Amino acid sequence: MNFFCRLLGHTWVHKSDDPKIAWNTTKSMDELAMTASGVPRFYEECARCGAQRDLPVRVRPGSATPAAPGGDEPAPAGG
Ligand SMILES: [Zn+2]
Repeated sequence: MNFFCRLLGHTWVHKSDDPKIAWNTTKSMDELAMTASGVPRFYEECARCGAQRDLPVRVRPGSATPAAPGGDEPAPAGG
């Protein structure tokens, strides 16, 4: 780890890897169709030492999965 990273902490910069994109003609041969292979990866990289870390997965509000039927709810803590 870089000395400054140890001292100040990493300086994270948002980065992304573009998927490989291939351009092919359509069957009618009059236009190009884009074919992307792979999924773009979004991550953060330290500007100083180059350490990488994946971004935490964001959970959109309102998209929470409903409780599974028959699932046992954990008992509330306390006493
Ligand atoms: Zn760093």
